[in-house]
Amino acid sequence: MVAEQIRARGIHNERLLAAMEEIPRHLFVPSFLLERAHDDGPLPIGEGQTISQPYIVAEMTAALALMGTEKVLEIGTGSGYQTAILCRLAKEVVTVERIASLQTSAERILRELGVENVRFRTGDGTLGIPDEAPFHRILVTAAAPGVPPPLFEQLAEGGIAVLPIGGRWEQELIRVTKESGKMRKDFLGGCRFVPLIGQCGFPD
Ligand code: SAM
Repeated sequence: MVAEQIRARGIHNERLLAAMEEIPRHLFVPSFLLERAHDDGPLPIGEGQTISQPYIVAEMTAALALMGTEKVLEIGTGSGYQTAILCRLAKEVVTVERIASLQTSAERILRELGVENVRFRTGDGTLGIPDEAPFHRILVTAAAPGVPPPLFEQLAEGGIAVLPIGGRWEQELIRVTKESGKMRKDFLGGCRFVPLIGQCGFPD
């Protein structure tokens, strides 16, 4: 999966590639999809949600440029697969999921893998986690109509956020950098995500 889908497409961040080689993706997919765990695409994880395509996980994580010292906020825990990778590459991770059953399952898998530098929250991630802010990095793994203002507020100066922005069905992946309190946006390419549902996202 890493050689054919990620390295071959031009991602050469060795720390990231090593993390993706080590984290057992098959643990994060439903048992009836075990044989497809390393497919080159997203897979259903229940509740109408998906585990993202391996390449998009790699692309978003690479765009965060993690050095290992960062406090990261992830919105959209889903299966917990992306969370496990962030935990390998950053100092600490706070992850938020609005669907409690997904959060519970992700938490169980990460505990079984011995991941300790993560805190789980259930609720509307479009509001961020003010009592944990500021964050050096923010990753949103669901599609937002725009950059949720609370997330930009909770981003540290010099920090980076990566998120899909656009309509419910098609979006652009963007990297937001906070420079002197202002937002600089870089466009990384087209993508398709499930919607970010919440006060600063799409209506349910
Ligand atoms: N990164 C995940 C993985 O590796 O499995 C995939 C995440 S899935 C594409 C997007 C997730 O965002 C879904 O689990 C969905 O329930 C969650 N979500 C949507 N709106 C949310 C919100 N306002 N706050 C927190 N999570 C939200």
